[in-house]
Amino acid sequence: MKTLYCALGYACNERCMFCPCSEHPTNQPSLSYEEICEAIDRSIEERGVNNILFSGGEPTLHPDFFRILEYAKNTGAQISLLTNALRLANEDFADRMFEIIDGEKLDVTVAFHSHIAEKHDYLTQHRGSFERSMKGVDNMLKHNVRLSIKNNIVNYTYKDLPEYVRWMTNRFDDAVTLLFCNIDINGTAQVNKDKVAVSFKNSIPYLEKALDYIVTLRQEGHKRNVKVLTTPLCLLDPYYWGFVETETQANMTAYKVPFSDGDKSPLMYEVSSDSGPMFKPCQNCQLQNYCPGTWRSFRNNYDENMLKSICGQ
Ligand code: SF4
Repeated sequence: MKTLYCALGYACNERCMFCPCSEHPTNQPSLSYEEICEAIDRSIEERGVNNILFSGGEPTLHPDFFRILEYAKNTGAQISLLTNALRLANEDFADRMFEIIDGEKLDVTVAFHSHIAEKHDYLTQHRGSFERSMKGVDNMLKHNVRLSIKNNIVNYTYKDLPEYVRWMTNRFDDAVTLLFCNIDINGTAQVNKDKVAVSFKNSIPYLEKALDYIVTLRQEGHKRNVKVLTTPLCLLDPYYWGFVETETQANMTAYKVPFSDGDKSPLMYEVSSDSGPMFKPCQNCQLQNYCPGTWRSFRNNYDENMLKSICGQ
């Protein structure tokens, strides 16, 4: 799939403690409708993009969100949306969105940071966000969107992962994908590092217990898609490697985000991912072509020698 990653703007209605964006991103103007349409047209024409991924900040806050969605839909490309779903809790907003696009043609990813509402709200710094996001998700599921629920593994909640999986698998049917991600310690996450960053050494035993539950469910016939992202293979028992998105995170075909100094932002092609097997031990590792590695920021916060080259010299 050839993807245009497009951050419509950095405005957000949550203030997640582990957000990799700066604490003050709202000073940056959002992309204009015209800029976004131009990026869509050029990336399709010049690079054959067939998936348009809208992100932010919170993309639904863009003043021209519906027009942008309609424009993107009319290109025939697949549309993906990373959203906190808060605005989708509003029935009118949800109805308007699904007047524009058929839910079955929309890939949506929503993060729930805990199965306990108070913990989720603490991490988003937005009281009531758990309930509202859940309502937004339910409104989208009525329209059969292809939904992924994401858990960002953070210090505040990593010990809850096994219970989280039980909650998630009870709450959502098998058509809903479950994603586990490690966080990129940049921006706000860097400022809150003591509260949110957790070492792989601490988190992985809990992640493995959570995956054990998925294995049990699969033995009972459940078919849920579960993916572990940004997790080095060498730190996970090989028994669980089947859950890992093993292909090195591909570079983005096209990339359009608001430019940090407010100038007109360029449309960039083949932008390197900020995660991958990019550490010293990876250089001689036979899994380098299959391993997702992790975020570049890992290097600034942990000893990269904890990674163990597989069959290296
Ligand atoms: S050494 Fe690097 S490439 Fe090899 S498994 Fe570990 S993170 Fe992946």
